[in-house]
Amino acid sequence: MQRWPALMVTILGGSLLATAPDARPAAMGPTTLAGATGAGVVVVTHGGVGSPPEWSSDCEDAARAGAAAPGGALDAACAAVVHLENICRFNAGTGAHVRLDGRTVQMDAAVMTADGEFAAVAALERVRNPVLVAREVLATPHRLLAGEGATRFAHRRGFADEVPLCDEALANYRRRLALLLEGRAGGGYDAFDWRAAWNYPTPPPEAAAVDPAGSVPPRVEPSDTVGAVVRAADGTFAAALSTGGTGLTLYGRVGDVPIYGCGLYAGPAGAVACTGHGEEIIRHAMARLVYERMAAGDSAREAVLAGCRVFGDEWSLGLIAVSRSDWAVAANRDMAWGQASPR
Ligand code: ASP
Repeated sequence: MQRWPALMVTILGGSLLATAPDARPAAMGPTTLAGATGAGVVVVTHGGVGSPPEWSSDCEDAARAGAAAPGGALDAACAAVVHLENICRFNAGTGAHVRLDGRTVQMDAAVMTADGEFAAVAALERVRNPVLVAREVLATPHRLLAGEGATRFAHRRGFADEVPLCDEALANYRRRLALLLEGRAGGGYDAFDWRAAWNYPTPPPEAAAVDPAGSVPPRVEPSDTVGAVVRAADGTFAAALSTGGTGLTLYGRVGDVPIYGCGLYAGPAGAVACTGHGEEIIRHAMARLVYERMAAGDSAREAVLAGCRVFGDEWSLGLIAVSRSDWAVAANRDMAWGQASPR
């Protein structure tokens, strides 16, 4: 497999500076690109834009779990995402964000295959592996199940009824709440009267819910969503995504992940999965935009770069993509990612 040089990209100026010939730069921002050319099986994963590069070993393990999974491209993508959903520090499945009321966990997930099959769940509750519920939706006449209907569907299909709550997610909630109450939350929430829009069944949280011992991050970033793209042995592609949503949301907020063409996309030319500020990703229909570049003949590397240029760097964005001839990772913040190409 020929590795192409890692590039550091200045998005606003549009200049490309070649650095060391290594597929993994030391840090992933702002904005960095990695990847390699080559045919055959490849699984690429991300741990969400904003996740520290030190978490990449989990993403590597997830990519290997996907590559080792029996079956086709979709089986590999789902196995990789399930691996990450089962790790508390990622914002998906077991570690999914606790929402602003301090008790609700609502998750989105989606899958798509190269033959155009797409299925998703939105605002799903009380399930550990939302990506498997999204996959289960493929077997229905529908493409997207949301809210209580999605949750009931999951339980009816045999998924255990449990709130996936890790200590990490609760500690993370208290830190985000501290920032919100101090008016330092970012993400559009500083100038937003969230108390006037409060739509949870319970009253808004007060300062008492904040953990005084918790270290407060400088600002809230959407992060740690998990995703995978796959090129299988038969040359077909698939993508899968799972998220607990962004850091601060009203009840029922749904991001890009389950919206067709936005969070992920797959077709005969490759597969793409995004992470980042969902509202902005939706506005760009980002996964479809990157895919269309590959369908028009761009490499995955060229396509993710094009996506980053269009998006800019005000809001966070991470992209993973695989084409017929290469795979690529790009992000405008730090991002943990992994890749596996079994021989
Ligand atoms: N895109 C996800 C969302 O908006 C969050 C993320 O990827 O970090 O729900």
